Amino acid sequence: MNAPRAVPEVSVVIPVYNEEQALPLLFARLYAALDALGRPYEVVFVDDGSRDASLAQLRRQFERRPEVTRVVVLARNAGQHMAILAAFAHTRGSYVITLDADLQNPPEEIGKLVAAMDRGADYVGTIRVRRRDVLWRKAASRLMNRLRERTTSIRISDQGCMLRGYHRSVVDALNRCTEASTYVPALAYTFARHPVEIEVAHAERTVGVSKYSLLRLIRLNFDLMTGFSVAPLQFFSMSGIVIALLSLAFVVYLAVRRLIVGPEAEGVFTLFGIAFFLIGVALIGLGIVGEYVGRIYEQVRQRPRYTVAAVLGEESGAASEPSRPQPERETLE
Ligand code: UDP
Ligand code: MG
Repeated sequence: MNAPRAVPEVSVVIPVYNEEQALPLLFARLYAALDALGRPYEVVFVDDGSRDASLAQLRRQFERRPEVTRVVVLARNAGQHMAILAAFAHTRGSYVITLDADLQNPPEEIGKLVAAMDRGADYVGTIRVRRRDVLWRKAASRLMNRLRERTTSIRISDQGCMLRGYHRSVVDALNRCTEASTYVPALAYTFARHPVEIEVAHAERTVGVSKYSLLRLIRLNFDLMTGFSVAPLQFFSMSGIVIALLSLAFVVYLAVRRLIVGPEAEGVFTLFGIAFFLIGVALIGLGIVGEYVGRIYEQVRQRPRYTVAAVLGEESGAASEPSRPQPERETLE
């Protein structure tokens, strides 16, 4: 089925960042699952600047299965979502599936996503039936899901699950985007015409550690919020208006009191309390404006979002693949 250089129907994209412990098992399960699928496929790994043996393992896997494997090697860590976009530019399949390298998304579930796309979906979102992560991550995700649902027009139930399917039309649209910070499932959703959601299994991370520290998670969620909504800004301008009106009423009240009761100096600490609270609110507002401004600054500088150091498997594949234009530059602006 998978004759050398067959144009793949299904492309599986896997970002890899320091996953040397997970890769051997991933290779075994992933390729077995894909072979069982009975469709021409390709696996496009993207090494996101790993500093362990991941790249060496990817090279070995490429040598083992060169006809169905590509490895996009990034010069340095660009983050999971940029890495996925870098890999998308090198996919050829009509269906593109993303998957984590740590086996938290079972490769055996890929068939379900393919079936959903066969039924006409161009975007297959997923809901982890029983998510296996630490408690604080699950609680934080629930909160962010709810916040995003309220403030954006992106309707995805489980934004954190990266086992997802995108039709070629959606991937082509993604490949035309040049945003410097983004969240792939949300961005893809904006291009989808027939989005569906299905349930998938989820597993604990049994080897290696999560690549997301609390700080990185917060930054990622700011990418999502700032990239797809200006609601936080509006929230602060509206609160500003309400607070200003309340203050005005308060000043009028104090002025009237001054005339009726005479001079008073009580309640200094209440005043401190109110002032500190408002300073806190103002600082949060300033910070949120900063999150937007910083991203605008990154965007206007137009530096490359990532740098591709090498692509294993491209030469032969690209030459035999006329249907998809390859990007002219290795770095996207
Ligand atoms: N990843 C990446 N670049 C990064 C961070 C993560 O390519 O900067 C990859 C990582 O190797 C894994 C996937 O993204 O394949 C998901 O990462 P992880 O499992 O650490 O995230 P979590 O499951 O904890 O959300
Ligand atoms: Mg994981």
